[in-house]
Amino acid sequence: MARVALVTGGMGGLGEAICIKMAALGYQVVTTHSPGNTKAGEWLSQMEEKGFHFRAYPCDVANYDSAQACIKQITDEIGPVDVLVNNAGITRDMTFKKMDKTNWDAVIKTNLDSVFNMTKPVCDGMTDRGWGRIINISSVNGQKGAFGQTNYSAAKAGMHGFTKALALEVAKKGVTVNTISPGYIGTKMVMAIPTEVLESKIIPQIPMGRLGKPEEVAGLVAYLASDEAAFLTGANIAINGGQHMY
Ligand code: NDP
Repeated sequence: MARVALVTGGMGGLGEAICIKMAALGYQVVTTHSPGNTKAGEWLSQMEEKGFHFRAYPCDVANYDSAQACIKQITDEIGPVDVLVNNAGITRDMTFKKMDKTNWDAVIKTNLDSVFNMTKPVCDGMTDRGWGRIINISSVNGQKGAFGQTNYSAAKAGMHGFTKALALEVAKKGVTVNTISPGYIGTKMVMAIPTEVLESKIIPQIPMGRLGKPEEVAGLVAYLASDEAAFLTGANIAINGGQHMY
C-alpha cells in the first residue's frame, strides 16, 4: 500500500511542486486548500490532465477544529497520514511600527499554530505505527530575520523550535521531524514583491544570482520523506542559493 503524503497548501507554488514530486515517487498525495478557495476544482482538473490523481480537502490550517475535522476525514477516506508536509503559509509584511494585532495574529496562526493543528492529529498514529515523517516548511527569514517581517520571522523561527522539541520526543518511535528553510523561490508569494525590489535588493543578496525553483525544494522534501533519511531528525536544512550560511 502506498504511503499517504499530506501536503498543506498544495495549490500554491511550492506545495504544487511537492505534490507532483511525491506523486512521481508513488505516494498517495493528499492536499488541503483554504475553505474559501474557489479554484480548487479547476486545479484538480488541471492536475488530472497532467496525470496526477490528487485528493484535496478544504481546511483552514490556522483553525484547530478545521484541522482536526480535515485529518479525520482524510484518515477515514484514504488512510492514516504517513508524511505530513506543513507547507501552507502567508505573509503580511509591514514594519513593526505599522504592525497591528490583526496582521500579527494572521501570520502566527497560519504559519505556526497550523503546525500544531495539523501535527497533533497525525503524530500519535505515526508513533504507534513506528514510522512517520513531519516536514515543516520554514524560511531563511526565520533564520536571519527580515525587515518588515517581525510576524513572519517569529512564526518561521518558532516552527524550528517545535521541530527540535518534537524530534526529541518521537526519535525512538521511527518518526523524524525536520525543518526546511528555503530562501527566495520563484512562486506567487515572491513574485508579488515588486520587480524592482527583487532585482535591486533581493537577487543581489543571493550568491547564485537567481531565485530558487520550487522543484529544488520539492526534491529535498522527497529526500526527508524517504527511508534513506531515517537518521536525519531535528535539522533545519537551508536551501537558499548561498544567501545565508550558518
Ligand atoms: P503560495 O502563496 O504560493 O502558497 C501558499 C499556500 O498556503 C496556498 O496554497 C494557500 O492555499 C495556503 N494557505 C494559506 N493560508 C491558509 C489557510 N489558512 N488554510 C489553508 N491553507 C492556507 O506560497 P509558496 O508556495 O511560495 O509558499 C509555501 C510555503 O513556503 C509557505 O509556508 C512559505 O512561507 C514558505 N516559503 C516560501 C518561500 C518562497 O520564496 N516562495 C521562501 C521561504 C519559505 P489557498 O490558496 O487555498 O488559500
